[in-house]
Amino acid sequence: MPPASPDATRPPRPECDVLIVGGGPAGLSVAAGLPPQVRCVIAHQDKAIGLPVRTSGVSWLSDAKALGLPDHCLHPIHRTDIYSDNESAHFEIRRRTVVALDVTQTYRHLASLSDGHDRQLLLATKYLGSRQDGARIISRLRAKDGEREVTSRYLVDASGWHCAALNALGLASPPERRAVGIEYEYPLQGMDPHRVVLFFGRHALSAYGWALPTGQGTLRLGIGIIQPDSAESPKALMEGFLASGELERMGLPRPTEMHVNAGILPSAPYDPRLVFGPVVRVGDSANMATPTLGEGIRTAIASGKALGKALGKALDGDAAALGKWERDCARRYARNYRFGYLTNQRAAAYGPEDWDRAVRRIRRLGEDELAAAFRSEFTLPMMARTLAKSAWSKLAGRS
Ligand SMILES: Cc1cc2nc3c(=O)[nH]c(=O)nc-3n(C[C@H](O)[C@H](O)[C@H](O)COP(=O)(O)OP(=O)(O)OC[C@H]3O[C@@H](n4cnc5c(N)ncnc54)[C@H](O)[C@@H]3O)c2cc1C
Repeated sequence: MPPASPDATRPPRPECDVLIVGGGPAGLSVAAGLPPQVRCVIAHQDKAIGLPVRTSGVSWLSDAKALGLPDHCLHPIHRTDIYSDNESAHFEIRRRTVVALDVTQTYRHLASLSDGHDRQLLLATKYLGSRQDGARIISRLRAKDGEREVTSRYLVDASGWHCAALNALGLASPPERRAVGIEYEYPLQGMDPHRVVLFFGRHALSAYGWALPTGQGTLRLGIGIIQPDSAESPKALMEGFLASGELERMGLPRPTEMHVNAGILPSAPYDPRLVFGPVVRVGDSANMATPTLGEGIRTAIASGKALGKALGKALDGDAAALGKWERDCARRYARNYRFGYLTNQRAAAYGPEDWDRAVRRIRRLGEDELAAAFRSEFTLPMMARTLAKSAWSKLAGRS
């Protein structure tokens, strides 16, 4: 009998190096960050990249540029108007330019970054579960033509709030506290296309509402609530808001023909544990959206790309690469998000009068302080400045 080939005694080669669950901004960015020769499969349950839209797409021009997002995906916003039931605050944006992303085109751009890599993008394919077999992970996927198994060295959970892979492996459950949002998208009808409105108070208790013009001549009017803090449904709140006359007070057009978007975002404390041996989480499944406004696209892209690079190094034998990525994420998010989450919890319990007081305080903020609060960036100098302003205002007799 001829001697067995050395390969016969080794475990079969994994079908891919990295299986990514979810083709949102986090998963697509992991694939983009992987070295081109790394064999990667993305299982994405939706039929297309970037559709349906489940997010508003607010971001920041400086971050979008730094992340290499193309200009045609970015619609600049120059004015922010903030309302509570009886108060308002108005800001011209001069330095910290906000952008409304064209969400579908942005996600398609992210997918294009790994075109030409050793990548298989499986659309309309749902990840069902995994089992570990030594150093390999065997995962089950379901597509229209049936189920198949994929073997990989690493498994990335980029499935958003579903936490599909971690949940299947018993490593974590989807968070119980979630922001649930609904958006009506309809023509702008002459409204300033560079003005965003945020509203707080009785129509969006335990979260907030927004009106964001897109670069496609539409307005996204949205309301989010935090469950279980609130038992209301976002749709009922939206209908109440539309019937209330508030649209006119805020200078917003009425919906004519419209399209409805809806989405869910985790609202839980940041957990620095991201790496579970060969299973790694990123983006919303790792709760990386800012706890103040729930802004998670830029953090999903930045952390996803960095994770792709770290996985490339790990596959090359650098055993410390994933731990370093995990620590970098903790440095970036853990402290800021702790303060941000406290703010989120406090604000979720606010009544309408609290929101009137909060908007009066917001009026005193400078552009940089407002941006820092929205971005959940709580540096000590910024907090000291804000406290000093508040104390000065109290001394001066203003509430
Ligand atoms: C109403 C709303 C408004 C928002 N507004 C903003 C905003 O203005 N700006 C901002 O920056 N962020 C916003 N966010 C947050 C932002 O959308 C998320 O932080 C971001 O999308 C996270 O990206 P992700 O790739 O981690 O997850 P997702 O975007 O959720 O992508 C995960 C993908 O995985 C797929 N998937 C899930 N389970 C499986 C499975 N079992 N098999 C295969 N595929 C699966 C899902 O279909 C989904 O497409 C908003 C969120 C909501 C809900």
